[in-house]
Amino acid sequence: MAKNCHLNYGRNDPITRIHGAAWKGIDGFLQRNPDNSREWWLTYNINATPERQRFTKAHEIGHYILHSQKQDEFRCGPGVILEKDTGDTNIEAQANQFASYLLMPANHVRSRIEKTPITFTLISELAEFYGVSFEAMCIRVIEITSERAVFVYWDNGMMRRWSRSESAKRQRLWIESSLDEPMKPFPGTLAANSSVRQCSDGEMVQANLWFKNATEGEMLREMKHTSDTFERVLSLLIVPEFDPRSRHDLLSGSGVVPGTPNAP
Ligand SMILES: [Zn+2]
Repeated sequence: MAKNCHLNYGRNDPITRIHGAAWKGIDGFLQRNPDNSREWWLTYNINATPERQRFTKAHEIGHYILHSQKQDEFRCGPGVILEKDTGDTNIEAQANQFASYLLMPANHVRSRIEKTPITFTLISELAEFYGVSFEAMCIRVIEITSERAVFVYWDNGMMRRWSRSESAKRQRLWIESSLDEPMKPFPGTLAANSSVRQCSDGEMVQANLWFKNATEGEMLREMKHTSDTFERVLSLLIVPEFDPRSRHDLLSGSGVVPGTPNAP
């Protein structure tokens, strides 16, 4: 694909060489051939995991398609391409987004996650299928799902970042966090329970342990994934639709009041 993508854009400066190099501290490099400026070379780090190498190649194709008419060289290190965009428009974030869209096409992913409940087990299967990292797959699922879903990344016991699906955003699901103070997992959650390392299919917990603005009685399904290789814990929260009236009815045993419209 890298060698042919110039054809889609009517360009006459193709990528002609793709090769691996044993580097430290750099993931990928896209440059013009020093001897022929009509050619591009794409180099990737063979010391990285296969998933990382694949993502890097897609990222460099992104630079070629999106940015190579303004810049002659792209040197991409782990710090710049590992992180997901935080909203700033910059070329590294754009190349990451390109790679994510290319490797995990929305329609295809959607067809997989609509049929089955979202769990870390499913995400792990999808990551393997698309040849991407587990974390990249989590982020993509959150972007695509129509469920209320939140993904949290803990690094050395502290929250590093979190992201939420569109419907979680619409319903204002919000984790209170502070830029000044490192955040630890909230007491009572699976994330805070050091005796549980993996919970791939989830456990029901009170939603207000995570979200201060959750409705009384609302529950969510919390999943936990602890990395074997680094100090990293991932949390995935799926918040089912909740109707406080049905909860009330359930508790009081009064059933649905006649004439009350059903919640959507
Ligand atoms: Zn880059």
